[in-house]
Amino acid sequence: MAKIHKLSPSLADMIAAGEVVERPASVIKELVENAIDAGASQITVEIRNGGVTFVRVTDDGCGMSAEDAPTAFLRHATSKIAAPEDLGHITTMGFRGEALAAISAVSRVDLMTKTAEAETGVSVRAEAGTVLDVTPAGCPQGTTIIVRDLFYNTPARMKFLKRDSVEGSYIAGAVQRQALAHPEVAFRFFRDGSRELSTPGDGKLLSAVYTVMGRQAAKDMIEIQGTSDNVTVRGYVGKPTSSRGNRGLQHFFVNGRYVKSPMMTSALEEAYRNRMMTGRFPVCVLHVEVPPTAVDVNVHPAKTEVKFLREKDVFDAIHYIVLGALNRTQDRPELNLPKQRETPKTDFYKTMTAEEYRTASTLSRPEQKTVKDFLSALPKKPSGSPGILRDGGIQIPGPAGPVSVAPAPVPAQEPEKKPVPAAETPVEEPEPQGSQMDLPLPPLEPPRAPEAAAVRIAEKKPEAPPYRIIGQTMATYILVEQGDTLLIFDKHAAHERILFEKLKAQGHEIMSQVLLDPLSPDLTAEEQAVLLDNSSLLSRLGFTLTGEHGLRVAAIPADLEAGEAEICLAGVAQALMEGAAPDPDGVFDELLHTMACKAAIKGGRYTAPDEIEALVAELMARDDIQHCPHGRPVCITLTRGNLEHQFKRS
Ligand code: ADP
Ligand code: MG
Repeated sequence: MAKIHKLSPSLADMIAAGEVVERPASVIKELVENAIDAGASQITVEIRNGGVTFVRVTDDGCGMSAEDAPTAFLRHATSKIAAPEDLGHITTMGFRGEALAAISAVSRVDLMTKTAEAETGVSVRAEAGTVLDVTPAGCPQGTTIIVRDLFYNTPARMKFLKRDSVEGSYIAGAVQRQALAHPEVAFRFFRDGSRELSTPGDGKLLSAVYTVMGRQAAKDMIEIQGTSDNVTVRGYVGKPTSSRGNRGLQHFFVNGRYVKSPMMTSALEEAYRNRMMTGRFPVCVLHVEVPPTAVDVNVHPAKTEVKFLREKDVFDAIHYIVLGALNRTQDRPELNLPKQRETPKTDFYKTMTAEEYRTASTLSRPEQKTVKDFLSALPKKPSGSPGILRDGGIQIPGPAGPVSVAPAPVPAQEPEKKPVPAAETPVEEPEPQGSQMDLPLPPLEPPRAPEAAAVRIAEKKPEAPPYRIIGQTMATYILVEQGDTLLIFDKHAAHERILFEKLKAQGHEIMSQVLLDPLSPDLTAEEQAVLLDNSSLLSRLGFTLTGEHGLRVAAIPADLEAGEAEICLAGVAQALMEGAAPDPDGVFDELLHTMACKAAIKGGRYTAPDEIEALVAELMARDDIQHCPHGRPVCITLTRGNLEHQFKRS
């Protein structure tokens, strides 16, 4: 070992800088946060070469005095806190006094700044952590900071940077998050000379959402606003039908600060449970406000973690406020028929083959979606683990062990799959029992008010216009006219959802049927053990298990056949084995999905008019029935406007 010595201040700064400045996007984050803390109403960010060679952030905030400006570059120099007690209620974005020191340690910085009171501004030049010179400068009120040649003196760090285009995208993301965090600030972002973002700064979050996420995303948003237990949640969440394949568009802010929090994500997603398919994720821009004393922001500056004093309150507030809003929202996607630009000449059709016509017609309308596009854009089913599949498909034990029935790739086109039993066993029709739910012949009651959800704000519903059932088409869809809108219901999805709600309404106990011959399902010792360990959960689901000589099943849910029950058990076992802490409600819902799916009227088969009438009456009375339990829409609409467009009446 060499002799111990103290690092030179500049080397120590360089090392410390590594923690704050990881990449160009961290520079942007720090500089923009400083501008926000300075009370700016306009912030302009310009970058070149992914921010590696050039970054400029200009604000119209309070500026710094000639005396303060060079001090800002010192480590632990801040105007934001002074005493230890200040740490308990931080309301600014920064407070560590580290950013400018860190940035200037690994780059060349030029700063120009002027306060409202000062006659002239001041310019400060710093390089590798040292202030080189301070000179008077003519400049408007506010601050401009230019950072050049990031990591020029730390080649090892330079090597870790990605391509300029990638670094540039990280920066774009950082600016977008700031714009969503601060709708009161007008942000402009220029990348290599071209303007990529410009928010109005009108204080309206929706304006920022529109600019950052686009028109369609903004249109598909539901406004959220509510307070519970000192936690205020406001912002926007996407309609369940506008889900995404990942969580990239989930933005959470706590007291104006962008955070990543698994707890907040699960609170949000919990609210979408039974509205969205597995593998699909909601979109959100949610601002959570808590008293500064209830949150610890004193975590690492470059990190986006957050620590709450009372996590559960925050979870509940997000969950219930979002759930309440979802329950009050209609989500019937409008069918966008393709626009036909030109009326084709008659011989155009004649001289083309079917294939050519198809190609030509897709080429002529690249932007428009056809019905087929719409359907195939729906999320594909996950291949799923054995047992209960999220889509309600099931596994069939084949002669050589369990075989998974692969779900069809395009869910909405899928005719109902009747599971093909390996060996057809005639099943006795069970005697109808008074207390049992009669699932296969759906008990469609007259319309009633939806069950009260956890948070359901009492609201007087405006009188819905009368509707008329036109009929059934393709033995799968029900057409209903209401005012100027044609509603197209998927009868299976709709009925499945209604049954699911009814099963759920039975409370947390499902009717069961005692078997004359107890089942001995073909499960591994491990699967049997996990089921027996959770026998109370299973009894809620309608299964009675005993375990003297291996697992025996004495009773199964009334609505399942023996074979289906075995398959469900395998699925439940799998779910229990996968989850370290099993989520009984999740497993419970899974099983309800499967049961509802099996019992619902099938697409592709004729349904009697009175059944259709009862189904439609229920659907029209309940706007909480928007999606089947797997998240597929129950209804899509076709408007007069859309048709008029097709027929060239408008
Ligand atoms: P912190 O933000 O944690 O205080 P920084 O190193 O980011 O630390 O900034 C140091 C100080 O410089 C700030 O406390 C603030 O007083 C001043 N400062 C930095 N940027 C600006 C700006 N854009 N406008 C006004 N003052 C600024
Ligand atoms: Mg700062």
